[in-house]
Amino acid sequence: MDLSAIQISHETLKEVYRALRPLPQFDTCRCPECQHENEFCTIDTYSKCAKCGRSVKLHSFGGGPEVQDVVSLVITWIEKSGRSSEIMNAHRETYGTGWEDWDEWFGDDEDHHPATETDGR
Ligand SMILES: [Zn+2]
Repeated sequence: MDLSAIQISHETLKEVYRALRPLPQFDTCRCPECQHENEFCTIDTYSKCAKCGRSVKLHSFGGGPEVQDVVSLVITWIEKSGRSSEIMNAHRETYGTGWEDWDEWFGDDEDHHPATETDGR
C-alpha cells in the first residue's frame, strides 16, 4: 500500500475539526420515564437509565452521517490494531492532550478574526 497516496483535503479536515471542536465527550439527558438525569458518552446511540433501566435513544439512525460517526470510525481503526494504548501514547507524544496544535493549524485561516474585528472601536 502506498501510504503517501492517501490524502484528504485541508477543507475536509477543517470541516471535521469545526464539527468536532465544540462536541462534548460526555453529556447528560433526562430519562423520559423517571426523570433521572443520566450521563452518557456522546458517541453512544443508546443510554440506559441508571435508575429505572429504561433504554433511551440518543440520536437517530439514517439521519445522515454525524461527526460522532467520524469519531467511531477513528476508534474502529485504533481498536483494529489491537495496540490502542501504543497508538494513544504516540498521539499524546505528538499532540499532547489539548486542542492547541489543531487550533493553531486551523485557526489562522479563519474568515473572521474576533480579536481584530473589535479593533478601531
Ligand atoms: Zn429512568
